[in-house]
Amino acid sequence: MRKILAAGNWKMNNTPSQTEAMITELRDKVAGAKNDVLICAPFVCLPAAVKAAEGSNIKIGAQNLHFEDKGAYTGEISAQMLKEIGAQYVIIGHSERREYFAETDDTVNAKVIQALKYGLIPVLCCGESLKQREDTVTFDFIRSQIKIAFRGLSKEDALKVVVAYEPIWAIGTGKVATSEQANEVCSDIRNCLAGIYDQETADGIRILYGGSVNKDCAAELFSMSDIDGGLVGGASLKCDDFSIICNA
Ligand code: PEP
Repeated sequence: MRKILAAGNWKMNNTPSQTEAMITELRDKVAGAKNDVLICAPFVCLPAAVKAAEGSNIKIGAQNLHFEDKGAYTGEISAQMLKEIGAQYVIIGHSERREYFAETDDTVNAKVIQALKYGLIPVLCCGESLKQREDTVTFDFIRSQIKIAFRGLSKEDALKVVVAYEPIWAIGTGKVATSEQANEVCSDIRNCLAGIYDQETADGIRILYGGSVNKDCAAELFSMSDIDGGLVGGASLKCDDFSIICNA
């Protein structure tokens, strides 16, 4: 039985002091929430986030990591650093990183492997552009992202990964995919995973939808057969809205 995960992606928002205030407010609002709760904060906010979330049901994650253990990679952050600071999850391959920071399917695969090596749970993002949707190549494109991202992963490791299907045209645009549109892609991702592994493994992997999820559409999206929660950007910056999503 897959439990719904409400994952907030703060992106480049909130300072350490704002993080402390926000998690302190959120922890009361989501105490006893029906869904699992995750906040992915900027690197420098992670110590404040971990401290403020201590003893609560809020898990803390990062938004990126480097695929090497350590070395001459100025400005980068390693899996070991994240682990030591208390992060439990890490977003990998967000479309903004693919677009603005030249991440490729191969680096995404290397990062997923690296996260798992250090016991971090990858939140692996995939999703098509509007042009790809209009060209009716959505399913082929996402299957290719998934196959490369899971390359070399055992069944046991695959089961630890959380997939986030995020159509690029729905991220930050206020244009939410319909629950049917979102579910049909999440369902195809599950079929793709069943092809790589087996049905039992595919059925054990959580697949989230992301793209303008808000307090009004979350419950319907999360009720769909193959949607196991949401990766939430804008609405995760508003405590009241996000706490509704954590109970949706
Ligand atoms: C995201 O940050 O992954 C996201 C889906 O953002 P938003 O909810 O603002 O569209």
